[in-house]
Amino acid sequence: MKPGVGFASMHRSRHPEDAGLSDDELASKELALVRACGDWQRILDFYGIGRVFSGVKDVVAEKLARDSYEESSCLIESLRKEQLRSPEARQRCLELKGTRCVVCGFDPVESWGVAGVIQVHHLRPLSEMLSERGSTQTDPEKDLVPVCPNCHALIHSKLRDMGSSRCYTIEEAREIVRGKAGDGTR
Ligand SMILES: [Zn+2]
Ligand SMILES: [Zn+2]
Repeated sequence: MKPGVGFASMHRSRHPEDAGLSDDELASKELALVRACGDWQRILDFYGIGRVFSGVKDVVAEKLARDSYEESSCLIESLRKEQLRSPEARQRCLELKGTRCVVCGFDPVESWGVAGVIQVHHLRPLSEMLSERGSTQTDPEKDLVPVCPNCHALIHSKLRDMGSSRCYTIEEAREIVRGKAGDGTR
């Protein structure tokens, strides 16, 4: 998982000393700082978040590392196809449901002021919609939910092969994010 271009330009505007580093070098540097930071509890307390911090864990990266290369490329392909399906339906979903991730609650517009980051997840895979309704018409109200890229990759990481497009349900993904993200307060 790599941060997008918005990350690099924001980082450079705040850290002029890093102007000479490539996007990849910036991402590695930032990730190392996140991992090395010993003040996460102080930050949580400062903002009054009321949660106990017990470690930085990248759930999706761990999942991808466990899966085979083939499964990982299936995952990326399924995410790509889904985002291409209907830009209008996506837009309608975001208008109806906002830009907050339904799994983890992260809102890239609120946190970063960046609208393009949020993705939409189709609750019913294309193959299922075709067989049940005989049409690929998407109902944004019923079929789509806003998700952040991290949770979206997690949801799709359940795919075992191209034929069976079983994803984690939103509830299952919430359980994983709650249970395995190292936060024992919920
Ligand atoms: Zn999320
Ligand atoms: Zn999806």
